[in-house]
Amino acid sequence: MGTGSGKIVAIVGAGPTGLMAAQVLSRHSSIEVHLFDHKPSVARKFLIAGRGGLNLTHSEDVTHFTRKYAENSARFSQYLNRFSPDDMISWASALSIETFKGSSGRIFPTGLKATPLLRAWLALLDEQNVQFHLKHSWIEIRDNKTLIFRTAEGKTVEFEADAVLYAMGGGSYGHLGSDGAWVGAMRNLGVEIAPLKPSNCGFNIDWSDFFRAKFEGAPLKNIRLSYQGRSVPGDLVITSAGFEGNAIYALSRPLRDALETHGSVTLDLDLKPSLSEEEVARQLSAPRGKMSLSNFLRKKLKLSPLQTALLHEVMPKPDFNDTGKLSKGIKALPVTLVGMQGIARAISSAGGVTFESLTDKLMIKGTRGQFIAGEMLDWEAPTGGYLLQGCFATGAVAADGIAEYLGLCEKC
Ligand SMILES: Cc1cc2nc3c(=O)[nH]c(=O)nc-3n(C[C@H](O)[C@H](O)[C@H](O)COP(=O)(O)OP(=O)(O)OC[C@H]3O[C@@H](n4cnc5c(N)ncnc54)[C@H](O)[C@@H]3O)c2cc1C
Repeated sequence: MGTGSGKIVAIVGAGPTGLMAAQVLSRHSSIEVHLFDHKPSVARKFLIAGRGGLNLTHSEDVTHFTRKYAENSARFSQYLNRFSPDDMISWASALSIETFKGSSGRIFPTGLKATPLLRAWLALLDEQNVQFHLKHSWIEIRDNKTLIFRTAEGKTVEFEADAVLYAMGGGSYGHLGSDGAWVGAMRNLGVEIAPLKPSNCGFNIDWSDFFRAKFEGAPLKNIRLSYQGRSVPGDLVITSAGFEGNAIYALSRPLRDALETHGSVTLDLDLKPSLSEEEVARQLSAPRGKMSLSNFLRKKLKLSPLQTALLHEVMPKPDFNDTGKLSKGIKALPVTLVGMQGIARAISSAGGVTFESLTDKLMIKGTRGQFIAGEMLDWEAPTGGYLLQGCFATGAVAADGIAEYLGLCEKC
């Protein structure tokens, strides 16, 4: 347990951000770290992230890496100075989990899962005497230091801390804990909050009943999506609502903005990124004989039944008899999105506490020792490891800020 005479730090939210801050702060022998979460177990989203392969970070150079944080890239360049992608790899290794680089440059733990990493992490935090208070839902803070929680049994609990880190996550996958319910209470503290919006999410398309029934759940691999000069290679999955998958996630921000303004938006889908339009046209100009169009497309261009069906979904029938139009359709099929999936099913959320409300060390301006980190902050980044890297880095920066605030930072 803690020193008794030391400083008390409360961290609200035991996701990766809160856990990283707890790890940094609990190294100080004079700090007692108390970690609160309203769920009965910690880091539920981190565990879910491990289901499809936990992408911890990315191997690209730091200049390209920080560009992924768009208008916040200068800020994140500083945060990544504190906790870099290499630090992420060393962190996992110190927990006896080695990592590997996938073909896309993404970094994963061997075994791909989050569970072994989390188990080792929690054991370390236990060794460092971090105290967990689960089933405690943060309600508000009074007089800058008295945190008010409601327990699962409906009891109100008060907790006094010398400094607080809020790491309650964004607003996506709310059933795992990050329900965004903190927004109202934070606004009451005078903190400026940009509305939470879905990011890295699926989009809606008016599929025909036939197409939806036949292809829901089918993967569309190695395609390229283009929108307003941005072109993204990747994969998609056909859903009953439209598209999901890394290619469309990467464009979620400009597509979301366009949908907000125009109600619908059209992007180009390249079904054959490895071939030029001329090459596609050349292949299609071969005599077809008695072959059906689908067979012809399969033989000449290796188009799958799904790819051919997509062409039929979008292109007018007469265009199939025009080699030029068909080639253009295969290389730049104009798919219209009519909406986006709600925040509940988005990988992450945009919006949150604005950086203008915070000092460089992520303390809420005008407060004494209240800090914010992780997905609660107003930033967004594509999938590829940039989300967890951003959460770990801001968690470490805020933890240093707290140590400095408490007069315990040796480096400051
Ligand atoms: C399906 C899926 C896959 C993903 N895969 C990846 C990936 O491979 N790589 C990657 O980089 N990112 C991935 N992400 C995103 C990544 O998991 C998040 O960005 C990250 O978990 C955010 O960390 P956080 O600690 O800031 O918030 P969270 O992980 O959301 O944690 C917030 C914590 O705060 C608690 N909390 C909230 N409100 C309260 C309250 N009022 N009182 C007490 N506690 C509260 C919650 O219960 C939760 O434990 C994925 C996300 C999803 C949904």
